[in-house]
Amino acid sequence: MIDIGFSWFTLLYVAAGLLTVFGLWLYYDWRDKHLYERERARVAFHCIKCGQVYSARKRAEVAACPSCGYENHKLKF
Ligand SMILES: [Zn+2]
Repeated sequence: MIDIGFSWFTLLYVAAGLLTVFGLWLYYDWRDKHLYERERARVAFHCIKCGQVYSARKRAEVAACPSCGYENHKLKF
């Protein structure tokens, strides 16, 4: 068995814990960023035929209304 001193064991134990916490921090930060970007990358549309408000992907300039199928342009604020 490997014989290491108590101070080395403590140092390795703390370093492993810190690396685990840091790795989880980076992973969840990356995941939340991608979830937020996906949610944020949507554009609002207002149907001028039936009045429904709906959303679609960001790059869509025109999207069909889910209720009546009318093609509407995106809302500009
Ligand atoms: Zn409509």
